[in-house]
Amino acid sequence: MDTNSLVSLLQDLIRIPSPNPPGDCLAIADFCASYLESAGYDVAKVAPDDRAWSVVGTMGNDEGPSILLHAHIDTVPLGKNAQWSNDPYAGVIKQGRVYGLGSVDDKAPLAAMMQVAAGLQKRQKQIRGKLIIVCAADEEVGGRLGTRWLVDAGRIPDCDFAVVGEQTHNRVATAHKGVLRATFHVTGRTAHATDPGRGVNAINGMAHLILDLERYQRETLASRTHPLVGSPSINVGLIEGGVGTNVVADHCTIRVDRRMIPGEDAQEIIEELLAIAATRQSADHDRSYRVDDFLISNWFQTAADNALTQRFLHISAEETGTAAEPVGYLPGSDAKHLVQVVRQGMVVFGPGTYEVAHSTDEYTEVAELETTYRILQRMVEETLINGQ
Ligand SMILES: [Zn+2]
Repeated sequence: MDTNSLVSLLQDLIRIPSPNPPGDCLAIADFCASYLESAGYDVAKVAPDDRAWSVVGTMGNDEGPSILLHAHIDTVPLGKNAQWSNDPYAGVIKQGRVYGLGSVDDKAPLAAMMQVAAGLQKRQKQIRGKLIIVCAADEEVGGRLGTRWLVDAGRIPDCDFAVVGEQTHNRVATAHKGVLRATFHVTGRTAHATDPGRGVNAINGMAHLILDLERYQRETLASRTHPLVGSPSINVGLIEGGVGTNVVADHCTIRVDRRMIPGEDAQEIIEELLAIAATRQSADHDRSYRVDDFLISNWFQTAADNALTQRFLHISAEETGTAAEPVGYLPGSDAKHLVQVVRQGMVVFGPGTYEVAHSTDEYTEVAELETTYRILQRMVEETLINGQ
């Protein structure tokens, strides 16, 4: 393997900023498209608007299985107060690490996938099957203008097996959680704070509702578990309410984040949250309680008992010295959008961890990136060159 070219490809990708928001991926999509074109791929560079450019490259034929490699090309924005030790867009190498915004999320798996794709060019005549590589925009804000749009617009061909590049420490994840967000509102009545009994304090009502949510976590959610991703959860992330210190608060809202495990139904969770508000309402007729503004991003889970997932598990176990068992991945990914184009199996896989992603001084370990590359390369060549 050519480590130098893998690392310099990663540096090239880091040096093309693609923070989202604002989500302008034109420059990085241009880079990916011309890289894949010069490696002999059929390339489409497409977007639903003038910012969210994605790239789909294909090579091969219909005489064998098809593999899809997917990584996103946008990154989170720089933190407002982030104090990076080096320029986040320089791709600085220090002590076996490549530093930069997006260095691990998601430009490391992107670089490994692009290099694997390019390596297939010299064996083009031996290919029995197809490699599809997707460099997707818009993942960091949910994928609606990226992978969701590509799938709905028929831009991503069906495939037998897919790898979605994210940070799993080179373990093979076959499930991740989903998220449902909602807003609870409590309405009361203002009065002068000198005589609070004349009003109805909405913040006090919300305090009771928050304790109801704690009980929901303890008594309901903790007892549900998934073998790979654990239990569902609910977190109160934002609170807002009141008019002034000397006024009885007439309104209070909270924004909650409810993580779903595979198998949970979003509509049933909405019913649970509505029931929590209704129960509190029936215990308190002075205030009004409601919940709305639901936003859903689904979980993902695929079977591991198919030949291609088993092959990927075995290759990664051999290369990393870990067990050939799938794991869970806690954050979300674009895998949820790809379910309908994948026939057999799909895994989330890549170097690094999600704790390093989205943080100051984000980095990728070069040695780990090389392992990512080797695993992907073996999977692609053993499937598309030697036949299934
Ligand atoms: Zn990512």
